Amino acid sequence: MTRIIHINNQNENYAIKVCAGIIKSGGTVVFPTETVYGLGADAFNPGACSKIFIAKNRPADNPLIVHISNMKMLDQVAYIDDGLRKKMENIWPSPLTLLLKKKESVPDIVSAGLDTVCVRFPDNKIALELIEASGPIAAPSANISTRPSIVDSETAVEELDGRVDAIIDAGRVRYGVESTILDCTAEPYRLLRAGAFSVEDIESIIGKIYVDPLAKGYNQSDVALTPGLKYRHYAPSKKLFLIENEEEFKKFISSEISKDFLVLCSKENEKYASGKSIVLGSDIYEIAHNLFYDFRYLDNSGKLYGVIQGFPESGIGLAVMNRIRKASFMIVKDKENIDKIYRVINEA
Ligand code: AMP
Ligand code: MG
Repeated sequence: MTRIIHINNQNENYAIKVCAGIIKSGGTVVFPTETVYGLGADAFNPGACSKIFIAKNRPADNPLIVHISNMKMLDQVAYIDDGLRKKMENIWPSPLTLLLKKKESVPDIVSAGLDTVCVRFPDNKIALELIEASGPIAAPSANISTRPSIVDSETAVEELDGRVDAIIDAGRVRYGVESTILDCTAEPYRLLRAGAFSVEDIESIIGKIYVDPLAKGYNQSDVALTPGLKYRHYAPSKKLFLIENEEEFKKFISSEISKDFLVLCSKENEKYASGKSIVLGSDIYEIAHNLFYDFRYLDNSGKLYGVIQGFPESGIGLAVMNRIRKASFMIVKDKENIDKIYRVINEA
């Protein structure tokens, strides 16, 4: 049985106590962070962590992120040099996850047998109180594997009721895309996953980092830099087509055939859609905030297909485009390839 725990000002302390109790006794709790909902268990309890993999149907070779709420917890789980540690004291809590050499205390199931561990200090009051009360929590995103991440509590209940011990109902999250992952064992540091913390912000504080072209989200299937990259991700069950060229996108959504599609676009481009459209937002933060929510809207819509536009890749836009590309059934970069969309739907 899953306990659904609604949080309000009156019951917050009690609710956190109950959830921390569940974590400490080896259970699983779905909790909000500033990025997406996470599915957590005691990071030092391998049996508890194995429940995460079962609940999510997650392959065992895809490691978890360890969530901390103070720097002492960092020292319990990973090695960090003094210079970086000082910088992180100013940066954390925030959606920047560090890949570091792990300590013995972290069980193999958390790191998927690697000698590294991802550590994150989330900027969300409920998450921090929960971790403070329970100790380090290992957690991936709460969605069932390959599905879009969960950004609201209703979807958390819909997807995970019966699969976990408790779900904290805390409404919509702030950012809507996952944390940025920075490999600090490489020289120079290397971006492993674009996320809510922008590359520009990292570089202004930490210095130049290596950004692999894969950060854009192309070619996920055949290159595996981080174990997570080899799996299909974030995908709606309906076929999503990305048209990166904005003029071609506008032309496509004003065509007759686009009426079979749910159009996902900016506020600005809404007027070109001849069929049903959903506005992701008018700025890139709003678009990030609504992206996974609207992927799920597409699945629940009566439309067979979705078509989505591209966005500029600066700031959080890099993470937005990474997620869109990985979620897309087909990426159309230029005019010549528009025909491929017609071919797919004519063959169906
Ligand atoms: P999720 O929170 O669902 O996005 O999953 C955690 C992400 O962190 C996945 O993409 C993992 O591949 C990545 N990750 C966690 N630990 C490691 C590690 N030790 N090495 C490389 N990637 C990691
Ligand atoms: Mg995930």
